[in-house]
Amino acid sequence: MTEEPDCRTRVYDSLTRRLLPLPQSRDPERPGGRLLNLYVCGVTPYDSGHLGHAFTFCAFDVLVRWVEACGTRVRYVQNITDVDDPLFERARRDGVRWDQLAEREMKSFLADMSALGWRPPDVMPRASEEVAEIASVVERLAEAGFAYQTDAVYFPVREFPGYGELSHLSRSSMLRKLRDEGLLGNVGPSAKRDPLDFALWRPSAADEPAWPSAFGVGKPGWHIECSEMSMHHLGPQIDVHGGGRDLIFSHHESERAQSESLTGCVPFARAWMHTGMVRYGGHKMSKSLGNLVVVREMLEKAPAAAVRLYLASHRYRTDWSFRWEGLASATRLTARLADLLGGGGGAGPPQEVGRGRVRRWEGASDLVDEFAAALDDDLDTARAVRALRVAVRQGDAAAARWMTSILCGSAALS
Ligand SMILES: [Zn+2]
Repeated sequence: MTEEPDCRTRVYDSLTRRLLPLPQSRDPERPGGRLLNLYVCGVTPYDSGHLGHAFTFCAFDVLVRWVEACGTRVRYVQNITDVDDPLFERARRDGVRWDQLAEREMKSFLADMSALGWRPPDVMPRASEEVAEIASVVERLAEAGFAYQTDAVYFPVREFPGYGELSHLSRSSMLRKLRDEGLLGNVGPSAKRDPLDFALWRPSAADEPAWPSAFGVGKPGWHIECSEMSMHHLGPQIDVHGGGRDLIFSHHESERAQSESLTGCVPFARAWMHTGMVRYGGHKMSKSLGNLVVVREMLEKAPAAAVRLYLASHRYRTDWSFRWEGLASATRLTARLADLLGGGGGAGPPQEVGRGRVRRWEGASDLVDEFAAALDDDLDTARAVRALRVAVRQGDAAAARWMTSILCGSAALS
């Protein structure tokens, strides 16, 4: 049985703070083949999807398409956090049912991502559909000595010596961040033992949904939902765990602690990839600051492929500032691209040639090598977009078509 050719892609791992060869597993369904098990933390569906979300999910879409083009199968799981306090709070504020709000916003998120031409995840588990399994994970943690019950069920952070390693934060910095986010809670005989401890299972408020568990009726904590959903759909170890950088602490730090404590399978994720923050008007784009640019607004002003190219012109790890002029420039590039590919200059879909590591075609150029080198170098999409610009300028329709299929997926050019 022949092995697939080597994958040369390297990615930056937040835990080790190093560039690593992209972790991949053996594909049980294809002897000699590779598989990438990918888990990306998804949205809490209570409000319109904004650019920060789109940036994260489009970055992982490029990763998936690139890895697939290199011959690796991808099993992509992205959850929907439809059991979460911000959702319940919004439903209360608006006087609507939490599950109806979640359903509506989830549909709107999927419509946005579909317009942006993503390759949908293979599984999009919803926390609300796995609460019984989540409760049983909490039970197993308690049996193993990794949970205690007072006014809620908490994870004792002192039992996991590596807590803080992923975020590279000191204990005092972690405490400061929790305090700033209003998540510190109370310490005492009828509350947490340690202010860093976090809830695995809590009682629900009177107007919130509640599920049965061995610890009483209530609702799961946010972090344990992702531990359960990732293990449920991808097993005890995943190749790449992704999400926005604002999730590193406390969400991913806690997810890692729970998962490794429960399974003993270390590392829980072989690489952690985190996307940068998008700023607008000088501040991080966030609901609380009200400086959101929502996906729909961009799609009204520019073709979907232009939005993708504008996002891709920033490498996934960088923090950057949204500017409408940037979207306008990407729109001009997209118009030239549409002329090149749609005006009879297209060379048809590129064909796979031999056992090349990337699906290429006869006459693949230095430009194609430059594009491949850019994505292999920790997904440097900014450099890849520059290669696409050159391909468009040179009128190289075959190269431009291939690059566009990876950077923009199936997003419309006009
Ligand atoms: Zn998560």
